[in-house]
Amino acid sequence: MTFETVIGLEVHAQLRTQSKLFCGCGTEFGHLPNTQTCPVCLGLPGSLPVINKRAVEMAIRTGLALNCSIRTTNVFARKHYFYPDLPKGYQISQYEEPICEHGWIDLNVNGESKRVRICRAHLEEDAGKNIHANEGGQSYVDLNRTGTPLLEIVTDPDMRSADEVVAYLKSLRDALVYLDVCDGNMEEGNLRCEPNISLRPVGSETFGTKVELKNINSFKNVKDAVEYEIKRQTKVLTEGGKIHQETRLWNIDLGQTAVMRSKEEAHDYRYFPDPDLLPLSIPEEWIEELRGTLQELPQARQQRFIQEHGLPEYDAGVLTSSRALADYFESCVQRFAEPKLVSNFIMGELLRELNQAGMAVESSPVSPDRLVELLQMVHNGTISLKAAKEIFPELYAGEKSATQLVEEKGLQQVSDEGALEHMIQEVVDKNPAQVEQYRSGKDAVLGFFVGQVMKTSKGKANPQKVNELLKRALSS
Ligand code: ADP
Ligand code: MG
Ligand code: ZN
Repeated sequence: MTFETVIGLEVHAQLRTQSKLFCGCGTEFGHLPNTQTCPVCLGLPGSLPVINKRAVEMAIRTGLALNCSIRTTNVFARKHYFYPDLPKGYQISQYEEPICEHGWIDLNVNGESKRVRICRAHLEEDAGKNIHANEGGQSYVDLNRTGTPLLEIVTDPDMRSADEVVAYLKSLRDALVYLDVCDGNMEEGNLRCEPNISLRPVGSETFGTKVELKNINSFKNVKDAVEYEIKRQTKVLTEGGKIHQETRLWNIDLGQTAVMRSKEEAHDYRYFPDPDLLPLSIPEEWIEELRGTLQELPQARQQRFIQEHGLPEYDAGVLTSSRALADYFESCVQRFAEPKLVSNFIMGELLRELNQAGMAVESSPVSPDRLVELLQMVHNGTISLKAAKEIFPELYAGEKSATQLVEEKGLQQVSDEGALEHMIQEVVDKNPAQVEQYRSGKDAVLGFFVGQVMKTSKGKANPQKVNELLKRALSS
């Protein structure tokens, strides 16, 4: 029997607010344990939570970018469980009425388009951190992270392979980073992902029993863990066994998943609306105002670069890999409408220099203006593309402009017709045999003549002009 894989993803994105979700404590990482706390996030009796408007704003902007509808009334609920890093004994989350619903992300996976639906995205607070010391057997609790705002983004079970999961996650990460609502760093834990995986016989309409994977902290982990789990479940089912509904942990060292807890031990969270928080009422005008400020997402921008600027998909992908790079490119083509020339030069020369210096494009010493000045000289034939590439490192390093560098180095191409015609005549006169060959139909001899003229000009003749003038001279 062959099986189809079914995967749905739960992603927790830590929102980049300065303060926590329900109190004024800072969210900055790296402070001494328990110094970023107050009665609210410590869960002391009598303290009252107050919602962070900025976190709500980030949730709305994310929801809109992910094609969600935003609920104008949504409700915070208590999700109960006991753990030492959760002093209140419950987490404030959203349950039946989340802030964002019914969105989607469109993907392109191995040349095929694919829509992954997002059933909900809700706001919730993070828990603290248990630290198990190696020596002495003690454990400690650090509550600095307690109450940090998270947006949990949940998909429908729409993915069918590890590749689709990775594509979805990358696209989501790019969107979050573009929107400036999350750092999007899986290794640092501010973007966490939990895939739910089940198999079913090909053709079956009903879903099989799912397993949830945890402890995944890189894109590579995601792919490896999902692929491992698909193999494991396939083997169990092929051998006539049953899949148990459980949570499994990915073990990087072993490259395996192992049971963490089974459904029998699963929680009954006893959700109910938090009586300390009023239902959140979001004005339509605010949603529309935020919709108006949304930036174009990377994928949409990539498509636009392909259509508007006629770039190949590859170029458009590289140029939209960061907002700053895409901005840089667009500010070049606004001044100089030769997108492919600009794109080639950015991807080749500029990125090479930036990467070597470990610099971001934001701090590029070559501004779009200065790059365009150089490329215009290529375009109008003043210098060759080769010369432009040669002087680029100096343009990058120094204070001199392209025009100054070209003049100093005498790189101007000879495009002056009079001067070129003179050289051409000389070459033609010296090679009567080749002239005969050309005139009797051997077009390839033209290359010989171009070479001779380039040599005479010490490489400075404008090859296009030379071609043009040679043809004229030879056929007359
Ligand atoms: P739970 O209550 O166990 O968290 P949910 O219904 O909230 O389950 O779903 C959690 C995630 O699991 C969602 O992304 C959903 O799409 C996915 N999911 C649900 N059922 C399945 C299934 N049978 N196989 C794979 N993924 C599933
Ligand atoms: Mg769940
Ligand atoms: Zn606090």
